[in-house]
Amino acid sequence: TAVPERATAAPAAGLPYQDATLPVPDRVNDLLSRMTLDDKLGQMTQIEKDSLLPQSDLAAYRIGSVLSGGDSTVSPNNARTWADTYDSLQRTALTTPLGIPMIYGIDAVHGHNAVRGATLYPHNIGLGATRDPALVQRIGRAVAEEVSGTGIDWDFAPCLCVARDDRWGRTYESYGESPELPSAMTTFVTGLQGDTLGAAPASVLATAKHYLGDGGTTAGVDQGDTELSEAELRAVHLPPFKEAIRRGVGSVMLSYSRWNGVRSHAHKYLVTDVLKGELGFTGFVVSDWAAVDQLDGQSGFTGAEITTAVNAGVDMVMVPHDYKKFLALLRGEVTAGRIAQARIDDANRRILTKKFQLGLFERPLTDRSFTGTVGSAAHRSLARQAVRESQVLLKNDGGVLPLAKSARLFVAGKSADDIGNQSGGWTVGWQGRSGPVTDGTTVLQGIRAAVTDPARVTYDRYGNGIDSTYTAAVAVVGETPYAEGRGDRPNGLGLDQEDLGTLARLKASGVPVVVVLVSGRPLDIAAQLPDWKALLAAWLPGTEGAGVSDVLFGDHAPTGKLPMSWMRTASQQPVNDGDGKTPLFPYGYGLTYDDAPEPSPTPTPTPTPTPTPTPTPTPTPSPDTCTAAFRTVSSWQGGYQAEVTVENTGSGALTGWSVDWDLAGATVTSLWNGTLSTAQGRATVRNAAFNGVLSPGARATFGFTATGTAGTPSPHCAGT
Ligand code: BGC
Repeated sequence: TAVPERATAAPAAGLPYQDATLPVPDRVNDLLSRMTLDDKLGQMTQIEKDSLLPQSDLAAYRIGSVLSGGDSTVSPNNARTWADTYDSLQRTALTTPLGIPMIYGIDAVHGHNAVRGATLYPHNIGLGATRDPALVQRIGRAVAEEVSGTGIDWDFAPCLCVARDDRWGRTYESYGESPELPSAMTTFVTGLQGDTLGAAPASVLATAKHYLGDGGTTAGVDQGDTELSEAELRAVHLPPFKEAIRRGVGSVMLSYSRWNGVRSHAHKYLVTDVLKGELGFTGFVVSDWAAVDQLDGQSGFTGAEITTAVNAGVDMVMVPHDYKKFLALLRGEVTAGRIAQARIDDANRRILTKKFQLGLFERPLTDRSFTGTVGSAAHRSLARQAVRESQVLLKNDGGVLPLAKSARLFVAGKSADDIGNQSGGWTVGWQGRSGPVTDGTTVLQGIRAAVTDPARVTYDRYGNGIDSTYTAAVAVVGETPYAEGRGDRPNGLGLDQEDLGTLARLKASGVPVVVVLVSGRPLDIAAQLPDWKALLAAWLPGTEGAGVSDVLFGDHAPTGKLPMSWMRTASQQPVNDGDGKTPLFPYGYGLTYDDAPEPSPTPTPTPTPTPTPTPTPTPTPSPDTCTAAFRTVSSWQGGYQAEVTVENTGSGALTGWSVDWDLAGATVTSLWNGTLSTAQGRATVRNAAFNGVLSPGARATFGFTATGTAGTPSPHCAGT
């Protein structure tokens, strides 16, 4: 083990890098010129909080970053103790001669989920169903406040995986199976970081993960092999990362998976050439947990693995445990010349730039003004709104939903009264667990609070005691918590024995059954569906179960649309939009309460795009040209979802854009401005969409305005 050398710099005071008025690149250069090799290697090292023994090693080994993995906690587990823990670690980090602050990262992937009492939002699959990027941005802001209130600077989110096979245990961490949905939801990055990293209080560094192709592995095997041509990889898995970079994401985490047999952590072409070169990513690349020491297929570091990863473009290694061995090996690789000094400096420049931008040098300790936001009423109400918007109504025979608040209801199912089940994995522990793991409202509590007389609601987990006198039975069934590979289900995606038993008891009573499915993905339910009057996909809603009852009783009519195709049978996996298979419910499907009864049990077949109406271009300033194509992607009696693709060939660099809708004559439930990509003066908006109902004869008009460089006329185009 290398004994860390002493830095030669005098205790810092009044040095250029400490001068907040200087530009960040100047501060970085000044600091780099004062750092020893060990200072630099330490910056590239990230240690799990609980393996730092003793804590003074943080300074002794010049370690630049600390993380809490999924199972890391503090005792008692509350926001204040987290903040105290952070401050104690930061004070230790600041005792080095140069006083470089550490940066602390955590997986706040559906709210600040390590902290008991934090607000937990729907997991990403549910947020994808909302089709509401503005909502996701507000959630990002709220998460940043809760995270900042515990001192933590960096969130390992959003997961931008494009989940292509529902057997994968991380499907719920995906916003959807199409590249468009995760791309649109990169608003989470803007929410976490703010428009400019560090410019406003509670700015938290975001992480686009896991680069690249984590959701595309063969058979949905976690950490498996993504066997795709480069063109397919780029078309399906790369767009969300491009969009996150456009939004200024500060870090990227690599994927455990392989692309055609080569691990991402060893993939210089993907990491250095594509991500940092072609896409122009200027932030830093962090490895996944222990991914570098698994490069040779065995745990435990070797110098060769470290060299491979760092030379591929990894800037910070999530170690997470044996930092002494790691640092000694890394030092050996550098002094032997196998890793160039320039690579070490580049990694440091990237990491230090983010630390300066975040304001860590000026404000290294917790901003306690945010500590009280953890689990606040305002955040819980935002989460409840997200739960409402995330529900997807898949079946509603005879209009059994919405339920009357005066109805006599029988509630059953293992997830009806279980905050742990409805929150899923990554909830106060990596795998999550059933039971009262944190604070919030269960679905049953939401139901009881909504009805006119709670005494008319009977609950039995197993459905025992139901008789024909009830108006309806509500069964809340589905999956119990899991995370990552432990959630892989190669052998089927059906309901478990307990759920099947509960459902059989309800069916035997003859009472109409409404099923609320709490699950991290579509499940194989085609065989049971004919027994159910209604099916509401609730995904993993988080702590605010009242958002589910809001939909059940019609306080919010369902607006969610499937972010994933819903398999007809598990053997159909993988099933994705546009692959020619016939799913049970297509991508984008979702009913609302105004809809006519569905022919049961098969939903409206995959909507065929309506003939594209001829776009109506408005006069466009020469030399810009503009075309718009408006197509209906999903329709049912009484409502439809449409999307538009616009291409504008402008002359100058684009500095801004907006989409304006004229929807007179429409009842609009949600609007989506789509995503903009620009290349060589050409701007393309994809998937601007609205959900709603058009009154007969009404037209929806849509305009796109891009602002060019000074003097360039603003191109404009409209489509109907
Ligand atoms: C996961 C990452 C996570 C990391 C740190 C890994 O197992 O793949 O998504 O950020 O752990 O907890």
